[in-house]
Amino acid sequence: MIPRNRRVIDLSAIEENMRMLRSAVPSHARMMAVVKADGYGHGAAETAQAAIRGGADMLAVASAGEGRQLREQGIEAPVLVLGAVTESDVSEGVRYDLIQTVCSADMVRLCENAAKELQKQTEVHLKFDTGMGRIGVRNEAERDAVLRELGNCGNVRLTGAFTHFSDADGDEEGIRYTKEQYLRFQELTAPLPEGIIRHCCNSAAIHRFPDMSMDMVRAGISLYGYPPVTTELPLKPCMTWTADISYIKDLPAGSYVSYGRTYRSGKAVRAATITCGYGDGYFRAAGREGYVLIGGKRAKIIGRVCMDQMMADITDNENVSVGDEAVLIGRSGEEQITAEDLAAWAGTISYEILLSVGSRVDRIFQS
Ligand SMILES: *Cc1c(COP(=O)(O)O)cnc(C)c1O
Repeated sequence: MIPRNRRVIDLSAIEENMRMLRSAVPSHARMMAVVKADGYGHGAAETAQAAIRGGADMLAVASAGEGRQLREQGIEAPVLVLGAVTESDVSEGVRYDLIQTVCSADMVRLCENAAKELQKQTEVHLKFDTGMGRIGVRNEAERDAVLRELGNCGNVRLTGAFTHFSDADGDEEGIRYTKEQYLRFQELTAPLPEGIIRHCCNSAAIHRFPDMSMDMVRAGISLYGYPPVTTELPLKPCMTWTADISYIKDLPAGSYVSYGRTYRSGKAVRAATITCGYGDGYFRAAGREGYVLIGGKRAKIIGRVCMDQMMADITDNENVSVGDEAVLIGRSGEEQITAEDLAAWAGTISYEILLSVGSRVDRIFQS
């Protein structure tokens, strides 16, 4: 049975996107595929494998729990946990051979204690805060405190250092700020030992500042086909989201549709009911301006998006029947709706749209 509401993930597009991103940065730079938050909604393990086929050297997740899930699915590539290591996560991180992120002497100590207890060696990357204001050591003194503690630890090895740009997709001011962050990162990492992997570029920076690639770049949203800034790379969106038409009706002029009677038909309309709502992660706010694709044509969403269903106007589309597919994100004929479009209707960003697709929406992998 085909599920009533599904997202099809194009794994060869993920692989191809990774290949394109690789070609966009200097060849010495390693590629990290960011597969946190379940691969931005695309499925972490499947995405990771596709990215590895496309040339990814390392993976990144948000927490040790996400890293463990990759390991449990048989993924052996190096995995960095981007979030600061915590007392509750640290043992899991060591046990599953995840590279953990530290930004204080206490965090180094946590890793050392956990590693000793498990009789293992463990790797860490040191995070620098050069202007994001989230996590990271902010100055030489904080850095040196971490390095001193590392010197006291027999089971923890420092193998990388990184920082995160806050405005690499911004305007001219953002560009200036990013360059400052980059310079500060170079300054702060200068005394680190040879062989440390230094990395700072997210997707926006990969496209805008490939000369800042250093030893590795971290590709997230662009891997999924949604570069946050303009690029010549023909990156391809990897998720198609569709649902079914469960009912079709002809409504006379003056009919109300959905909660709150916010929509009233001016003339007679033919309306299709679709098996998708905000319970599936479709943004309720997107219903005001949004449309779906049915049979290669745009169909305006009418009335409020409900929890499990929504309605669309198919008056000018003769050939629609119950059981046909409505495309929420993806292509139909010549038409296309992207996560960017949905984000614009909902007042958010493509990242949040992709991540919001609900667990009720089945995932079908296509390679
Ligand atoms: C999420 C994340 C990324 C990926 O960002 P994109 O904009 O999706 O490429 C890179 N680095 C860090 C530290 C992150 O948290």
